Amino acid sequence: MREVLSCLRQLQKVDLEMLEIVKIRDTFPAKVRDLEKQLASEQSKLAKTQASFDTIHDERTEKHNKFKEDDERLKKWERRLNESKNAREASALAREIDAHKRLNQELEEEVLKLMEQEELEKASLTSFESTIQEIEEKLAKERAVCEEKLGDLNQQIAVFESDRQQYVEQLPKPLLRRYEGVKRARGGLAVVEVRNGCCTGCNMRLRPQLHNTVLKGKSLETCPGCKRMLYHQEEGAADAS
Ligand SMILES: [Zn+2]
Repeated sequence: MREVLSCLRQLQKVDLEMLEIVKIRDTFPAKVRDLEKQLASEQSKLAKTQASFDTIHDERTEKHNKFKEDDERLKKWERRLNESKNAREASALAREIDAHKRLNQELEEEVLKLMEQEELEKASLTSFESTIQEIEEKLAKERAVCEEKLGDLNQQIAVFESDRQQYVEQLPKPLLRRYEGVKRARGGLAVVEVRNGCCTGCNMRLRPQLHNTVLKGKSLETCPGCKRMLYHQEEGAADAS
């Protein structure tokens, strides 16, 4: 039984080390995913700003064209007024010109306001574009790092896999299944030490009888609280875990 327990503890040790590597390995794709999300968000902001810019630009162009047409018409009327010999016609024309000048002035102000808005949108567009470029550069680097690290880490994991195989072969199949089941259910930790009468997996104090059985180390006992397999580390003995 001591050999089985020792083998289980070795297997647990390899599995915990492997779990750490797997955790590290999984942070790399997470960084890439995070950057991809950021990129998508900035691209959608850029698209919205572009649409808004286009709308303002179209409106500004339309109003500007109308302003130019009206301005031409005003000039024509002013020429006619200068050439007019008829006093009644001249005064009617002068009133018309005044009214249209006011309208055209308002139109010109609107065009200027739209130009200012357009400038602002243009500035946001430039800023989004440079943010996107930054993210794309980071993403390309992170993808390269990720690929390289993943290669390294997968190699390490492969070494652990072959390491654990020697312990797996030494353990009876039903025990191995039990170990794997507890490991899955308990965050990777299936074999724990009993210290000062307590399970170090869940801190539950064991009944004295169970504690004594674990101390003897002649059978494989389970913690009633967390179902993990228990062992006792003898004083002065080399720690296997
Ligand atoms: Zn426990």
